[in-house]
Amino acid sequence: MSIYLGIDIGASTVKLGLLDLEKGVIGVRLDRPSYASEGPDATANVIQTATTELLQANDLHFNDLKAIGACCPTPIDASGMCVYPTNIDASWQGVNIAQKLSDALHLPALLLNDGDAAAYREYSVREAQNKASSCMAQFITGTGLGGALIINGKIWSAPAVSAELGHICIDSSENADLCGCGARGCAETRASLLGLRNMVKHRQAKGNVPEALQGEPMEVAKKLRRLGQMDEPLSDVMSIWQEYFTSLGIAARNVVNTVGCDLIVISGGAQEKEKTASEGAYERFKNDAISWIRQGIDHSFPHLKQTRVEWSIDTLPDSAAYGAAHYASVSSPQSKDTWV
Ligand SMILES: [Zn+2]
Repeated sequence: MSIYLGIDIGASTVKLGLLDLEKGVIGVRLDRPSYASEGPDATANVIQTATTELLQANDLHFNDLKAIGACCPTPIDASGMCVYPTNIDASWQGVNIAQKLSDALHLPALLLNDGDAAAYREYSVREAQNKASSCMAQFITGTGLGGALIINGKIWSAPAVSAELGHICIDSSENADLCGCGARGCAETRASLLGLRNMVKHRQAKGNVPEALQGEPMEVAKKLRRLGQMDEPLSDVMSIWQEYFTSLGIAARNVVNTVGCDLIVISGGAQEKEKTASEGAYERFKNDAISWIRQGIDHSFPHLKQTRVEWSIDTLPDSAAYGAAHYASVSSPQSKDTWV
């Protein structure tokens, strides 16, 4: 059997799933509170118990597992260490999480950044459908803006960390919004939930916003996808989404001009369909988004028009755990750079 355990570690939840290389996803994913704020040992304990539970539910044993592919919402180095504790408790900084998981479960373990894991899942789904590219960049929209590069089927990573596409500078002006990374004017300060909040705040400061955009900026930001996917959305709402996606387009242009990738994939929160949205409104929202992203790309070299810009085709929700499991299966267990 070629079964791999996928683990997606988040600040509040840890998600575990099993991936069989021949059959695909096995059984149902298990979600548990991660207790990440109590430190990596507390999370490793949760994972140990949850893995036993997951295996029992699927009539499997520890020795049926080949390896662990895990991911975390932080920059990760090649040894599987959490380099900087973004989106997780400070106690995770400098801890080799891959080693910890390997010790806890007595299996080889690989640790990835969660954006990289999600993008690898997308890549593998595309590859199976002949829709992949040898050089693909993915932007993962959410509270922040994640990103990854998959080049020749491998997650691109430097000796230190992998690509942080959300932190490409798109605004060098002195008063550009401050980003969580410490710099100003990153793509994340526009193309993310935090970016929506920033744009609401700026419009409110100028005054004369419609009633739908009044109130605490983060609360308004959380309503914007629903407002944007209405049959007749307000022009003020659409101008915020236009700024969101053209900003993403500028970041995408920088990626294309840096690494020459010919496929840009967009996934995450901005792709989700609101329950209240009609099919037509949802399709219009997605088509507008792609054309706004294209505006950022097409105003450069003519050949950049060949770059495909597409929404994610991976239909499995929260699939980073499976992406990490799949990547563990294609990474060599002998390589001490990626395995412990
Ligand atoms: Zn940043």
